[in-house]
Amino acid sequence: MNLVEFIICSVYVVVCGAITWWLGAQFGIIGYVAGFLLGTLATMGTLMLLAFVMIWFQKQISLGVPSRPACKNGCCTADDYKMLETSPPMWMCKCGDCYDRRGKRFVRIDPDGKEIPYLRWKPFGSWVADE
Ligand SMILES: [Zn+2]
Repeated sequence: MNLVEFIICSVYVVVCGAITWWLGAQFGIIGYVAGFLLGTLATMGTLMLLAFVMIWFQKQISLGVPSRPACKNGCCTADDYKMLETSPPMWMCKCGDCYDRRGKRFVRIDPDGKEIPYLRWKPFGSWVADE
């Protein structure tokens, strides 16, 4: 059992066990059965909420929101970029400029392949100018 499986099983046992115990104490055998079913659903909901929070946290810390900021001309948004199948792959905005991610940085790539610092992601903030 790895750490993620251990966390999932622990959450399941605690949430489902608490609901089953509480409803069983209130309504007897029907309460235990309903508590188990309700506890299983509550555990799934709790785990899904936990996954959404973790994804949100990761985006805020390292990925940046949106993942591709406005281009240098300010007219293209995240959905306006197309991935070019170059080596390494890079993103081209509708203006024809090329960009790529370097960790928390979003760099502009000139036609010679030289990387020019453009923006960097400030955790829990926004994209800021990269000096
Ligand atoms: Zn553009």
